[in-house]
Amino acid sequence: MRHGKPVIFATVGMLFGAAAVLVVSHLVTPAPQHLVTPAPQHLPSQRKKSSITADAQVPIVAGPRSFSMASPPPSSGDDTVTSKAQSAAHPSPATPRMHTVKIEQGDTLMGALISAGVERQDAHSAIEALRSIYDPRSLRVGDEITLTFDEPENQSFQGFSLEPSPAFKVQSSRSDDGSFSSSSIKTPLNDEMVRIEGDIGTSLFAAAGEAGVPVDIIQNLINIFSYDVDFQRDIQKGDRFALLIRRKVTPRGEAVGDAVLLYAAMTLSGRTTALWRHESKDGRIDYFNSKGESVRKALLRTPINGAKLTSGFGTRVHPVLGYSRMHKGVDFAAPRGTPIYAAGDGVIEIAGFKGSYGNYVRLRHNNEYATAYAHMSAIGKGIATGKRVRQGDVIGYVGSTGRSTGPHLHYEIMKRGKQVNPLGVKFPTGNVLAGAELRRFQGQRATMEKVYAELPVGMNRKLARAH
Ligand SMILES: [Zn+2]
Repeated sequence: MRHGKPVIFATVGMLFGAAAVLVVSHLVTPAPQHLVTPAPQHLPSQRKKSSITADAQVPIVAGPRSFSMASPPPSSGDDTVTSKAQSAAHPSPATPRMHTVKIEQGDTLMGALISAGVERQDAHSAIEALRSIYDPRSLRVGDEITLTFDEPENQSFQGFSLEPSPAFKVQSSRSDDGSFSSSSIKTPLNDEMVRIEGDIGTSLFAAAGEAGVPVDIIQNLINIFSYDVDFQRDIQKGDRFALLIRRKVTPRGEAVGDAVLLYAAMTLSGRTTALWRHESKDGRIDYFNSKGESVRKALLRTPINGAKLTSGFGTRVHPVLGYSRMHKGVDFAAPRGTPIYAAGDGVIEIAGFKGSYGNYVRLRHNNEYATAYAHMSAIGKGIATGKRVRQGDVIGYVGSTGRSTGPHLHYEIMKRGKQVNPLGVKFPTGNVLAGAELRRFQGQRATMEKVYAELPVGMNRKLARAH
């Protein structure tokens, strides 16, 4: 696997994808109203705002979707339609002839029907009938329209169908009395699990996007890791991500609606953090680590054991300078050499001597919070700028370097770059699962791990198909 190139592993049931690509008639555009604009290459959810009001009463079509595939009978060798679905056709003298056209720039629904050989009056009636459930202006470049005609001896137009979304199809069909009526047909949807892994390169957003991860999933991913990671700055070459996503797909493997992130692991500077989605009995959804601890964890207010608070946050007479000034942290008196712990997971922003602070370490925990530790006798082993630490790692030892009167830890918490009172700051409180809820979580986690491990390996770039 090469760095920078996301590697995508398999999904199940992706057999047909874009198989049914059909030949297109060359449509001469009459160019009236409702000109088609290019389809934005967006994600499944982009299409949810379609103007369709799907009729809940219509039957759900099960089994092969042969109707929407162009399925010319074997005899119609001169038909311009070609399709991989041909073999699925059921040849019979009564089989209507189907013809599929693909909408191109500048086409209209009316123009497309007429170009395909439909009488203007029929095209108009068929479109008018559909209008109650489909706005012809919703037509996009690349949309496919399937027209139905009676058998060769009678070329009469019987109607057409199109798929505004992979989730459903709308159709306009000629009735016995010759008029047209419309209906919509929902596509049966299945759950599909997708495993995606990749190198982050320089940007998680870019790498995940390239791997086909939907934007809403990437945002969710960044959100749940933002307590540990500053995505603007923490990402380094060699960092990786791994995801398990559940989504709804049509029988042809097209994703519909929003996907759900079930599991996410980030490997940053060689350390892997894994989170699992869990919905509690009362319906709250959160992401937890393997111990059932919510990602929303607090920073330690006292990053040192057995220390005594000797100076609080706020204005005081400075013990060395002798005049009143703001004390932007809290002081904990402790014997020289007492270990000082990282208040939370984070990245070391500064580790070194810093003027009156003496030996100083500053950790960045996420976009919001940073912590700083001053006057240390020594900085911890391996603690260097850019390195990553976990909550509780020893980052240094109590001392009296810099402007200090005796061994103590000067501790600061910065919220968006501004010092706040470590004893007063309200962290987002983390939920920790316990009892039956924890057992339920662990059971689901085991299942997700099994599903993830068993997903077959293969290429799939269709996760973010534009439908
Ligand atoms: Zn202090």
